[in-house]
Order: sequence, then structure tokens, then C-alpha cells
Amino acid sequence: MSELWERWQRAIADELPAAIELRHRVHADPRGSGDEEDTARVVAEALGAGEGIRVAKTGRAIPLPGKGDGPAVALRAELDALPVLERTGVGWASDSELMHACGHDVHLAALVAVCRAAVRIGVPRPILAVLQPREETSPSGALDVVESGVLAEYGVDAVIGAHVQPRLANGVVSAVPGPVNASTDEFEVVMHGQGGHAGYPHLLRDPILALSQLVVSLQQLASRRVDPVFGAVCSIGRIQAGTAANVVPNQASAFGSLRLMRAQDRERALDGLGEIVHGTAQAHGCTAELRVSPCEPVLHNDPALAVGAQRWLVRGQSDVDIDFRSFGADDFAHYCTGGGDEGTRGLMMFVGLGDTAGAPSLHDERFLPADDAVARVANALVAGYLAALGPAGA
Ligand SMILES: [Zn+2]
Repeated sequence: MSELWERWQRAIADELPAAIELRHRVHADPRGSGDEEDTARVVAEALGAGEGIRVAKTGRAIPLPGKGDGPAVALRAELDALPVLERTGVGWASDSELMHACGHDVHLAALVAVCRAAVRIGVPRPILAVLQPREETSPSGALDVVESGVLAEYGVDAVIGAHVQPRLANGVVSAVPGPVNASTDEFEVVMHGQGGHAGYPHLLRDPILALSQLVVSLQQLASRRVDPVFGAVCSIGRIQAGTAANVVPNQASAFGSLRLMRAQDRERALDGLGEIVHGTAQAHGCTAELRVSPCEPVLHNDPALAVGAQRWLVRGQSDVDIDFRSFGADDFAHYCTGGGDEGTRGLMMFVGLGDTAGAPSLHDERFLPADDAVARVANALVAGYLAALGPAGA
């Protein structure tokens, strides 16, 4: 098996110049969530294995043969860019109002290099290359890929993904067993009060004061409702109220997200959210409406895949991290439902870009991984594939 690793690495090295050109081409011409058809076509052409199957409206699943039977391994990369005005200053920068500010251009290029190299050298198990749309929006593309049945149709047992991560140092790749990204529920609260003249507060029911108290009280969810060993995050990203400094409005709204690391904490946390919203409203003589929209589940890495990948990453001279988790969310979580009848096992790795002070974060208008990140993401995908073969395959 280590001979396969060596041959695969050499074949990938041959593919890298073309893959990096593809990265620049995709980066220069980004497409937003739900509009990825052009990007999917360009990447499918570069893969050189036919058009594949259309999935999740604008995505593709492209089967590549293996030398033997056995379950297929899906390698997933995301197609969509973000509504960000690029300010990287490179010659191949986007000139539209969209930007590949999350590294998906790098992931796509790495996927192409790995798959083309795999076909050339002949790998033991079939690969399903998944060009997945709508990672950045809800409802997510991953859920549509799963529900399309394409993974079951091609006998996929394991799904492998890798995401660039500026919070990890250059050369570091994380392959962590268990939960690595949070579940998210987005919510909206509308606080109803009784508005009027700001100088007569005793005659009113001030929804802004109630909402302000609520934003603070919601922090109890993390500190008092969920086991702190596992943690929770409740952040308000938008509040909306009022028209003038001297007028108390009738209502005020807040929009936020609740993030958890364990599925079993969700019911308790959502109960707490409801109690705090309605209790705070009542304490201020107001009433509240609460709407919750479930987004992504917890991203739970299969332990055997993670441990197996760690070994191959060490072999590829990566510095392996076994701790990195974040309360970010990724719809890759939908591929991680378990093995066998339960669905597929999943492994999401994070590829470090350099943990330097002031470096642009994901989704930043200056975010631009160096081209050598393509090789490192490719390396991680190969490690994930080999881990999926298991000790018997190795
Ligand atoms: Zn991303």
C-alpha cells in the first residue's frame, strides 16, 4: 500500500501544474450558490472522465473506476463562491461581485489532480468525485446529494473532504475523530411591546430594552444549559428596531444562530432558548415570537477514518493535528451519518495555511491561499481514501 502512496504522489506531482491553472481559471470566474453549472462543467471537463451525473441541480457526481470491487470512496469538493468583492490584487482575481473567498477553488483543483492521477495509476477501489453545489447556503447542497441516492447507487461507503484553514499553521493537517464542526440552528425573535414617546417610558412596554436584555440572557444557554466540556455558542448577528432617537417602537427583532457540538444537547438547548425568549419578554411586559430554522447537523468524523488518515498524513510529512475543532458549520456533516445501512462514514480534514497574526480569515476579501495549498489538500484527500480501505485494504 505504501507503494501505491508513492506512485500516487508522483502522478499528482505531474498533474499539479494543470490543476493550479484550473484553480486560477475557476477563481477568476466564480459562481454563487445555486448557480454553479459553469464551474461544474469546467471542472468536469478537466477531470476528463465524462459529464457524470447531475446532482443537487447544479452539481455533478463523476464515477471513476477502481481495479477491484469493494465499496467506492467519494471525494467531495465544493463549487460555490461568496458574495464578496475581491481585494487580493492578483492578476487572476475575480472582477465580478463574487469571490472564491473560502478556498473552494483550491479544493476543486486538488480533487482534479487526485482523480486524474488515480485513473492513471489504477487505484484499488472506485472513486466518486462529488462536485457539490450550495455549501454556503441553506438548504444545503450536501443534503440534496445524499437525498438524490447517488452515493448508494455507486456503493459509496466513505466520503472524504478537506478544507483549507488559516487558523492552523502551514504544513499542519488536522484529522480529528468525532465532532469537529458544530450543528447550527438559525433563529429569529420578534419582541412585541407598546411604543410611544421616549420621554414617557412608564406608559410604554419597551421592546428594545427587552431585546437588549434578551441578547445578554441568551449567553446562559452556553454557560448554564449545556455541559461546558462540549460547549455551545449563541450569537446574535443582526438586530433591527426603531426609526428615531425619541420614539420607542412597537417591536424589535433579533436574528442569531445556536451552535452545538453534540446532537443530544439540541433539544435541551432549544427548550432553553424558548424559555429565555418568552421569560424575558414577560419580565418586560412584552410578548415574543420565536422561529427556529434547523441548518446543519454536527459534523462527526468517523474515528477509524480519522486515525487511518493520520498515519498516511505522517507518511506524507504533514504535521498532524488531532485537536482542531471549531463552531463553524459545514454541510459535509450530512455525509457523516454512519456506515452501512445508516448511510456513509465521513472524514473532513483541515489543511493549515499559516497561523500568522493579521492573516486574512476565511470569507475575507483578501483571503488567498498560496498555490502550494493545492498539493497539500490533494495529499489529505489521498490519505482519506487510503484510510477508507481500512487495515485490510492496507
Ligand atoms: Zn468553505
